Amino acid sequence: MLKDQLRRFKGRFPTIHLIAACLCASIIGLTLTLLPSEEVSATRTTQQLNLPKQTRESLPLPDTRSTSLPAVQPLQAKLEIPTPVTHATPAVSTPKAAPAVDDNWVSYTIGKGDTLSSLFSKAGLSSQDVYSVTNASRHNKGLSRIYPGQEISFLIENDELKKLRLIRSKLVSTQIEKTENGYVSQIIERKPEIQHRYASGVINSSLFVDAEKAGLSNRMIMSLASIFGWDVDFALDIRQGDSFSVIYEERFLDGKMIGEGNIIAAQFTNQGRLVTALRFTDSNGTSSYYTPNGKSMRKAFLRTPVDFARISSRFNLKRKHPVLNRIRAHKGTDYAARTGTPIKASGDGKIIWRGTKGGFGRAVIIQHGSNITTLYAHMSKYRKGQRSGSRVKQGDIIGYVGQSGLASGPHLHYEFRLNGVHKNPMRVKFPNAAPIPKKERPAFKAVAATLMTQLESYRTTQVAVLQQ
Ligand SMILES: [Zn+2]
Repeated sequence: MLKDQLRRFKGRFPTIHLIAACLCASIIGLTLTLLPSEEVSATRTTQQLNLPKQTRESLPLPDTRSTSLPAVQPLQAKLEIPTPVTHATPAVSTPKAAPAVDDNWVSYTIGKGDTLSSLFSKAGLSSQDVYSVTNASRHNKGLSRIYPGQEISFLIENDELKKLRLIRSKLVSTQIEKTENGYVSQIIERKPEIQHRYASGVINSSLFVDAEKAGLSNRMIMSLASIFGWDVDFALDIRQGDSFSVIYEERFLDGKMIGEGNIIAAQFTNQGRLVTALRFTDSNGTSSYYTPNGKSMRKAFLRTPVDFARISSRFNLKRKHPVLNRIRAHKGTDYAARTGTPIKASGDGKIIWRGTKGGFGRAVIIQHGSNITTLYAHMSKYRKGQRSGSRVKQGDIIGYVGQSGLASGPHLHYEFRLNGVHKNPMRVKFPNAAPIPKKERPAFKAVAATLMTQLESYRTTQVAVLQQ
C-alpha cells in the first residue's frame, strides 16, 4: 500500500526525492496568497463551533481527559480515537517464529560495499554455500538484493550453515533453512496493525501550514492535496475559512508506530463547497478515491500538465503578443517553468502530431477520444521512445519545457480543443474518470456508508470535546 502511495507521488512529481527536496516548492504551491473571499470568513471558525443548541444538548458529555486540547485553534486539535479495524500477525502461514537471539547465531549489519560473498566469508562460509543458498532462493528472490542497514544472521553448526535470516525491513524477512532436500527459502511477511486517526482544521494561512498544525505529516498533506487536486486548485481557490478533515491509517508493529498508511476518507470545504473523497479497493485490488455517490475523484484530464509551474499567461482572445507586440488571441494557458521540467499528457490518448509547428516550436498534439485534442508547445525536447501514433496514459511524460518557436522565455503553451474549438483549459469542465463499475457497486456502498458514519462520528466527538 505504501508502494502504491509512493507510485502515486512519483506520478505527480518528477522524482521521489522531490517530495523532500521540494517541500519548499510545495509550500509555495500550496501556500500562495490567501485571497480574501467575498464573504470573508474570519468568523467562520466560530460559526462552525456554534452548533445549533439542540445539537449541542444532544452531544455526549466530553471526556475530561480531553480538556487539555488547545483552545486557540480548537478544530485543529488531533484526536486519537481507537477504531474497530485491525488485524495483526503473519500473513503467510509461517513456520516457527523468527529464531530468538541465540548464542549460536552470528549477525551482521550490512554495510556499504558488502556483498553476500563478503558476508558469508566473514561468517566463515564458502562460496559454495553462497551458491547453494542463492540458488535455493532464486524462485522467491529472497536474496536477490541486499542493502546497507539490513541485518543478516547465520546459524552455523559443525561448520555447516543450518539457517540464514535476512531482515529486509520491519515487515519482510527472508529465512533459509537446511532440510533433507537441501536449502529451502521462505519469505516471511508481517502485517502491521492498522489504526485510524482523525485530524481536521480550518485554513488560516495555507493548507500546508494549517494541516501541519492539525498534526498531519508532510506526506499526508501531499496526499490530501493530490486527492483533492482535481477539484480544488490549491494555488488559486483556497480561502481563509476553508476546512478539511481526514481519517488516515497508522501502522503499528508490536505496539510501536512504524509509519502512516493511506488516507481512507477526507473532506474539504472550499469556499462553502464540500467535497468528500472515500478510498475504495475494488475486487482486483486497485484502490482509488470516489465521491460518496461512486464518482471518481479523478478527472479524465489533469488541470495542469506541469507541476511546480506558475501561470504566466491566461487564455485571452485579445492579448497583445509579447514577441510580435500586436493583438493576437492567446488560445491557451502558459505555464512558466524551468527548461527541462517534464510535461505530462493531461489525459489518455494518442499522439497525432510530434514535430516542429511554426511559432509553437517543438510541439505535441494528443487526440483524446473523438472530439478532444490537447496541444503542448515550445518544448526543449520530446520524450524518448514516443512518436506520432503512440498511445499515452494520463500523466505520462511527453516532453520537456523549453522555448522553441516564438517564445520569450521557457514555458509550456497548453491548448485544449473541444470539437476543434479552443477552450480555456483553466475553466473547461472536465468529464470524470470512470465511476465505480456496476459489479463493484454493492461493495462500494457498504464501504462508503461505513466511512461516512466514521467521518460523522469523529466530527461530532471532536465538536463535543471542544464544546466544553
Ligand atoms: Zn502561450
